[in-house]
Formats: sequence, C-alpha cells, structure tokens
Amino acid sequence: MENNILDDQDFLVASISQLSISSNSSPPVVARFRPEWLQFELDSDSNNLVRFELRNCRLFKLGPSQSVCVSEASEINKEKNYSRGITIQFVNEEESRAFHCAFEQRKKDVIVQGSFLANGTVSSKSKFEDKIEASSAKMYFHYYGQLLHQQNMMQDYVRTGTYYAAVMENRADFVDRVVVDVGAGSGILSLFAAQAGAKHVYAVEASDMSEYARKLVAGNPLLSQKITVVKGKVEEVELPEKADILISEPMGTLLINERMLESYIIARDRFLVPNGKMFPGLGRIHMAPFSDEYLYTEIANKALFWQQQNYYGVNLTPLHGAAFQGYFSQPVVDAFDPRLLVALAVSHEINFMSTKEEELYEIDIPLSFTASVGTRIHGLACWFDVLFDGSTVQRWLTTAPGAPTTHWYQLRCVLSQPIYVMPGQEITGRLHMVAHKAQSYTLNLTLSAKMWGPGAEQGGILQTSSGKFDLKEPYYRMSQPQAYPMGQEQPPQQLLQTQDLQTLSQDEEGSDLLQ
Ligand code: SAH
Repeated sequence: MENNILDDQDFLVASISQLSISSNSSPPVVARFRPEWLQFELDSDSNNLVRFELRNCRLFKLGPSQSVCVSEASEINKEKNYSRGITIQFVNEEESRAFHCAFEQRKKDVIVQGSFLANGTVSSKSKFEDKIEASSAKMYFHYYGQLLHQQNMMQDYVRTGTYYAAVMENRADFVDRVVVDVGAGSGILSLFAAQAGAKHVYAVEASDMSEYARKLVAGNPLLSQKITVVKGKVEEVELPEKADILISEPMGTLLINERMLESYIIARDRFLVPNGKMFPGLGRIHMAPFSDEYLYTEIANKALFWQQQNYYGVNLTPLHGAAFQGYFSQPVVDAFDPRLLVALAVSHEINFMSTKEEELYEIDIPLSFTASVGTRIHGLACWFDVLFDGSTVQRWLTTAPGAPTTHWYQLRCVLSQPIYVMPGQEITGRLHMVAHKAQSYTLNLTLSAKMWGPGAEQGGILQTSSGKFDLKEPYYRMSQPQAYPMGQEQPPQQLLQTQDLQTLSQDEEGSDLLQ
C-alpha cells in the first residue's frame, strides 16, 4: 500500500469479509468514495475492488468498530446482480464513526443529484439553500475559512472565557453526553466540551476551517478520541447519533445578523434529543433611545461632500439627498458610553429551545420608553445577551454598553431626523426586522413622541421619525479588526473644515447639524 496516498476522505479498514463468498481480505484495505460508488480497494493499484452503488446500499453498525454494508440487487440486470454484503472491521472506533458520517453524507448527495436528473427540476439540498443566496454563502464561508477571523473571535476573551466558564462550571451537563458543536469553526468549543468530559462531540463546520479544526483536534491527543469533525452545513450533514446537548456560538451583530440562529434551531430539530440542552439556551435583544450629538453630526457630515457645486466644474448636489440617506441607512457599530442612553431599555427574548425557525424570518418589536431627561433623541441603541442555563451555574454573556467590550460592540440606528423630548415624556415606536437572502436583516425603526410646547395640550400631535437600515452594511466606527461581516473599508473619520460647512444651504436636510 506504500504508493497509495490516502486523503482525508479515505478510510483505513483492517479487513473486510464478504457475506456471500467466504473469503477474508488481508489488511490493509482502503474504503474510498467515488461520485456514485463506495469502493473497497484490496490492493495498491486498485485492481482488486469490491464496489457498492451508493444509491442502493445501506450501512449498519454491528459494534463500535464493526459494520455491515449491504447493497440491493440492481434494478437493471436482476439475473446477474444479487444482493451483496460485507462486514467491515475498522481499525478503531474513531475511523468507524468518521466513515459512517461520510457515508450518510455521500449517499444523500447522490440521492439529491438523482432527483435533479429524474424530474428535471432543481431539488434544493437544504433549507439553507432555499433561503440564502449562493453568492452570500460563498463569501460568508470564505470569511470563516480564514484563521485570522477565528483568531479574532477566540481573542475576544469575554466571549471565549464566558463559554469556557459556562462549560467547565457545568460539567454535569457534559460528562458522558453526546455533544454537537453547531458551526465549530476552529473546534474550540468542541475541545472545551471534551475537556468537560463529553462522551463524544460532533464538530460540524461548513467552511474550510473544518480542515484546521481536524488538525487542532488531532494535535490535542487527550481529547481527539472524543471529537469527530464533520464538514458540512448543519442543515445538510447526517450524524450517526442524536445529541444530549448542543453547543454553539451563532450570535452576530444585534444577535440575529448572519442568520445563524436559524441554523442553530434547525440543528436542534435535527439532532437534539427531546428535552436536550442548548448552550446557550436563550438570547435577548435590548433596546433604548440614545442622544449623541457628536455621532449625529459625524454621519450627516459624511454627505457634505455631495453639497459641492463645483467639483472639478461639476455640480454634485443632485446626489446629496441619496448620499445622506445612504449614510443614515448604515447601523453604527461601536462601544458607546451608557450615559448616552436616555430611558430604561426594553428587551425582546428569543428562546432557542422553543422558537420555531420561521419565527426568525420577521421580528416585530413594539417599543415604549419614558425619557429620563429632556434631550434630542438621535435613535435607538441595541445590544444583546445570551444565557447558559447550566444545571450547576447560570451564566450570562452580555454585550451591554458599560460591560467589558466584546467583538460585537453595540449597535445604534441613527435617525436622520432627531426627536425632542422632555423629562418623563413617553416615547413609543416599533423595530420591525425582516430577514433577507444575504444572511442579514432589513431594520425598520420608528420612534414617536408627543409634541411639546404651544399647542401640545390641544391633543397628541406626534413628532415621528423613521429610518430603514441594512444590518448587512454596518458602519464600524472604530479601528480594531472586525467581526463578520466586514462593511466596506472605512477611512478615518474627518469632520469637514468650516469653509466646507459654509457651502451648506440652510433648507437642505443636513442643515440641522449646523444649529
Ligand atoms: N464555534 C467557533 C466558531 C464560531 S463562528 C467559536 O466559538 O470560536 C461561527 C461558525 O459557524 C463559522 O465558522 C461558520 O463557518 C460556521 N457556520 C455558520 N453557519 C453554519 C451552518 N449552517 N453549518 C455549519 N457551520 C456553519
């Protein structure tokens, strides 16, 4: 076998014996997947083969490292083809487990392709493919396939440290349990679960990071026996057993960005035993109005460029309105001082254990606040937390302003028209979030307050301000390396010079900032 180079989708088998013919192979044997076939190669130049058509064969476990593979007689030539079977003795339990995962996956691929050929219509592979544009998914998994981005998350010590503490303090939830790590990335959470005494961990990762995860796991030999890395989407992979507990870090900006919570919930429905645990088990989005004149001015100023009437002889002003709207449609991601908040926060809970996946397609949150001070409100500030409801210790991971900063920072939706409030005044509104095919959400925000001053007593004249934001295109307002997804490169902020400001005409939207 010296000249037969194994790749990671080949499996080393100690021996096979055919059920119909009483002859045993001599080791070693390589089990190899071909597009339509599973073949066992009995010698190095692949002349001596036992082949099974994936479409027609099934695999059963006889023991931890022994299985039987049986194929039905082929439809085409019944006289010559009888059912066949072989028993497979794997070199160890780990190889057996990996082979079973790969087998189920390959078989599914063949069947999906088959249904495409048979009726001529495209049969989608999974819910993921139905919902998400291929180009978005490609960029997304390319991003997570790079070690630098995994490192960025791992180096968020608030994040990783809280996961570590939540797992280690709740060993009872992991000891002798089967764990699925949903979106394993580098495999770090799988390694934590194995450290906490898991019976076995399936680390499911769709990006090419799965290869690095394999390497990382293999380099930690005390734990590697307990971890199987499975490359693929949780919506598509097959696993040989159900999980007692799921662990995952599916949170994006504002909790819901990236739409990975939906994958976490699909993984729950596909792999978790009834009454199994989820780490984390729930998340909450918190929202409060804020006042930040400096931020407002900074955003409005970005559009001033388009106020120039003589840019190399060209009048740019026809595009000022669009540029102004464009800047205000970017949610701002940064860490802000919690003293900018002007009312107690309201929160919206998403219980990962019970939420239906479809409930995340559209999230509508009614808002109601009482202003604590008289001020101009510039928009809505949002952050989130998640709960690890361990049977020993409950632990929250929070991204709140004022708490130690995480790579998620906080998110602010800035309204192009601020609203004025007096202390004690009621502010109402709505945050309506609609998922889109690029793995993110469109946010529609409305805030209203009763008009103050002369005429207010005559009854409820509302000042209302609305904005529409694309969560996929945030404005990262700081210079550290960023979480997914990257907005376009942002140059350092420059407030315009006073001579530029003088060109601003007072009747334009941006005039507010000069007051
Ligand atoms: N668990 C790791 C990585 C978290 S980042 C850690 O905590 O450090 C989220 C990871 O989930 C990314 O690596 C991404 O590629 C993966 N992922 C996202 N959606 C997925 C899906 N539907 N199926 C499998 N993996 C997915």
